[in-house]
Amino acid sequence: MVHLRNTNKNPAKKPTQAVILAGGRGQRLHPITEKIPKPMVLFHGKPFLEYMIEYLKKEGFTEVILLVGYLHEKITSYFGDGSKFGINIKYSITDINNETGPRLEAARSMLDPVFFLTYCDNYCPINTQKAWEHFCSQENTLAQITVYSNIDKFTRDNLRVENGLVSTYDKSRSQDNLSGVDIGFSFMHLEVLDLMPNENLNFEKIVYPKLVQEKKMAAYVTHHRYYSVGSLERLPVTELFLKRDPIILLDRDGVLNKRMAKGEYVTSPDEFQWLSGSIEAITLLKSKGYRVVVITNQAGIARGALTKEELDAIHQKMQNDLQSSGVQIDKIYYCPHGWNEDCFCRKPKPGMLFQAQRDFCFDLSRTYFIGDDERDVEAGEAAGCKTRLLKEGESLLSVVKEVIF
Ligand SMILES: [Mg+2]
Repeated sequence: MVHLRNTNKNPAKKPTQAVILAGGRGQRLHPITEKIPKPMVLFHGKPFLEYMIEYLKKEGFTEVILLVGYLHEKITSYFGDGSKFGINIKYSITDINNETGPRLEAARSMLDPVFFLTYCDNYCPINTQKAWEHFCSQENTLAQITVYSNIDKFTRDNLRVENGLVSTYDKSRSQDNLSGVDIGFSFMHLEVLDLMPNENLNFEKIVYPKLVQEKKMAAYVTHHRYYSVGSLERLPVTELFLKRDPIILLDRDGVLNKRMAKGEYVTSPDEFQWLSGSIEAITLLKSKGYRVVVITNQAGIARGALTKEELDAIHQKMQNDLQSSGVQIDKIYYCPHGWNEDCFCRKPKPGMLFQAQRDFCFDLSRTYFIGDDERDVEAGEAAGCKTRLLKEGESLLSVVKEVIF
């Protein structure tokens, strides 16, 4: 039995080395992977792995170790030493029949004491600094995985998270009470490799349950949908996500229309007054190919100030007015709940932003949310958006110009 340290001696700074397991045969992607390995599957003319490497670079990683096997020369010849991509790339090339356990072991001498580990399966634009801070806050842990909350039951759950730790890890996905799925994007202490027997076995299948049992595996939970190159049926949605069609998220009251006094609500179409420049801002966004999504708190519904039908009529009036300029808002999300209902949608909670993310298949980390209230900024930050607070007297048109140009 290997004894693990009891203290998590995370360095003060986030690791700068990322390790990518990219050696598998990708059998679920046949016939595509008969000629190219999975990391080289193209989206808009660029290999999946290149999107990963660009993301890692943007997140501040300076070195990538690629653990390759199957058709490795396709990868090494494309990426070389990484200089073309502005990052240092090294390779550990092992037998194509190797599982992930021996692949990691073979690279041991190249690995830093703590590194970022991922598979070349999923892409999810998490903020790795926030993930690192979460890991550092979980005392006595030696690894942390990123967990997609799976609140929309997009896939089958394979684990359970309690108090920031993985409490159950079930790769067979058969136990009850599972909630969430491991998507990689992990931080790992090198000594975790000591838990791996010297056999040709799958790393997470052997090692993760041991870490979980000893309460040494933290979980960083995200509600941002992940995009996969793992199977043929997932490719179209990943293609759409990586197309990166522009989108903007806007608050309503105080951004598009004159806001009422505190505790008062726009209750009918007649009371809705556009702010100057807001229709022009939407028209400009549309002319630049943006999708426009509105995210608004409407607690007036819970408080009895207006009904859902009246709110629908207000939003219909907005769309009718915009129709005169030949544009439309793509979707309006509203939270009807009151202040103390503890829902996940009322800003500053980020629920509506994540809902929009899933519906419109976009990258929150590349998207602006513009609002006039501190709660908009908080919701945007919780969702991993770029945010812009519209100050008193500032017009949406000038802010939109600043954001898109
Ligand atoms: Mg507002």
